[in-house]
Amino acid sequence: MAKRDYYEVLGVSKDATKDEIKKGYRKLAIKYHPDRNPGDKEAEAKFREATEAYEVLSDDKKRPIYDQYGFAGLEGMNGGGEAQYSHAFHDFSDLFGNMGGGFSDIFENLFNGGMGGSTRRSGPNEGASLRYDLDISFKDAVYGTKAEIRFHHNETCSACNGSGGAPGSSRKTCPTCQGTGQIRRSAGFFAVQQTCPTCGGKGTILDHPCSVCHGTGVEEKSKRMTLSIPAGVDDGKRIVIPHQGDAGTNGGPSGDLIVVIHVQSHTHFQRDGQDLYCAVPITFSQAVLGAVINIKLLDGKQIEVKIPSGTAYGKLLRVKNEGVPYTGSSRKGDLYIKILVQIPQHISSRQKALLEQYAELDNATKSPQMVPLSSLR
Ligand SMILES: [Zn+2]
Ligand SMILES: [Zn+2]
Repeated sequence: MAKRDYYEVLGVSKDATKDEIKKGYRKLAIKYHPDRNPGDKEAEAKFREATEAYEVLSDDKKRPIYDQYGFAGLEGMNGGGEAQYSHAFHDFSDLFGNMGGGFSDIFENLFNGGMGGSTRRSGPNEGASLRYDLDISFKDAVYGTKAEIRFHHNETCSACNGSGGAPGSSRKTCPTCQGTGQIRRSAGFFAVQQTCPTCGGKGTILDHPCSVCHGTGVEEKSKRMTLSIPAGVDDGKRIVIPHQGDAGTNGGPSGDLIVVIHVQSHTHFQRDGQDLYCAVPITFSQAVLGAVINIKLLDGKQIEVKIPSGTAYGKLLRVKNEGVPYTGSSRKGDLYIKILVQIPQHISSRQKALLEQYAELDNATKSPQMVPLSSLR
């Protein structure tokens, strides 16, 4: 199914402020709220669509990625499914602040219970996928490198092996919900069944929680890894390291660690896909007569480049196969050298005399014809 542009979904312009984005979403969320449109699948779809758009556009990290790479850039950023909506709900009290407390909880519950899987809390839960932003130099992006990263993630608690219970502990009926796993809550015109916050929907609690993880079954650990960054990675590239996100609970799988590569800019080189661009000045006489010049590449290697006679200012010379490697291949892009012809500001009297002689043979006209601007590049 084709997805609509997030800005279009919220009815705001590409340069909308955060406030405009929030207002756009608020309007749609109230209109298509599932509780006001019971059984209306279309309203539900619209509500989900708006929530997803808001979740991305209100996020300072995701919005620029979406702007630059579109939906493709966001793929795999979330653990998937429900996790995608979690951020938006943190903002709900903010969005609906004037509608009274408890609204955001109820909203979240409607989502998890009403539309998502209702076993979210009591069944196996997949751990969250984590994002790590890695800055690398322009040169390392071109030639590849090894990068050491350090991050924190949740691992299965080693003391209780993820059960959450201290040795010998057993489960007893939850005092909050009396074992049903659900409680009823009301706020304003809503009255909904909600997962019990004490037992997380299980209906039972541990009489002696594990002292290390306090019953959660996971503990936060710092982790070090050495990553191989392949030659030729581009800015915004995502490297997914499976199962290095947060550990799952109740036997659920771990999330992934997603490393997003940020390539620093370079003083002398720019990149467009696998092609490299640089600019070098040459003298007026080199441009007219032709020359061979030396160019120092990113890795310090020198190459000889032939400047043909009659090279105009701004000419792009292509050096094949001196660009950026295609990841996982021996193929490379090309290097483009923009030629800047320098006009001398100060010349010696001998140079001047020679140029004057040259000018006599130059057939210069006092009335040059204009050229069509479309012929310029
Ligand atoms: Zn534990
Ligand atoms: Zn309970």
